[in-house]
Amino acid sequence: MATSVPSTQQQQPAGQKRKDTIDWTEYFMAMAFLAAKRSKDPSTQVGACIVNEEKRVVGIGYNGFPTGCSDDEFPWSKSSINPLETKYLYVCHAEVNAILNKNSTDVKNCTMYVALFPCNECAKIIIQSSIREVVYMSDKHALKEHTVAAKRMFDAAGVKYTQYKPPHSQIVIDFTEIDWDSLNQVPATPKKDNMNAEAELRRVEKLSIE
Ligand SMILES: [Zn+2]
Repeated sequence: MATSVPSTQQQQPAGQKRKDTIDWTEYFMAMAFLAAKRSKDPSTQVGACIVNEEKRVVGIGYNGFPTGCSDDEFPWSKSSINPLETKYLYVCHAEVNAILNKNSTDVKNCTMYVALFPCNECAKIIIQSSIREVVYMSDKHALKEHTVAAKRMFDAAGVKYTQYKPPHSQIVIDFTEIDWDSLNQVPATPKKDNMNAEAELRRVEKLSIE
């Protein structure tokens, strides 16, 4: 049976924490998949999310052409008589982009959450950047040489890899379910000018009473 995380907060008894939250692993894998939605690749959309030992996200990326190489001008084809007209010579994989996008000094001892098992080229960069663990979702290229080579290198270098089994079949973000109007129940922050005016009024009233 399909289970999903509700997109909006469910009612909990007053004073008790919510129990229907997503766990850390779901959170980071979902971030990888959200990043993949940015990919312009018509055949494969991959996202990657790098998390440090303190469970903080330090890099996110998705597959795409390098900066300055237009999505409209470079080829997205998977096959052509001319190799220069295929995407393979140009595209940067999500793993590499996530590492290069890091907002920390390095990604040493980090974990990478990625939609698809890394290829051999990404595996080299993952190992060299000292990422310690890879959590992946799909291993659809398991029999291909680039995946076999990647696993051989991960095994030799001691990089742990684990296939992710999602506890929920869906994580839904439905903006239409959010009751924006109820936000009006939050007391509005008084404007500073009004606060000053009210304080002055109280001071004058106090003086007049005295
Ligand atoms: Zn790759």
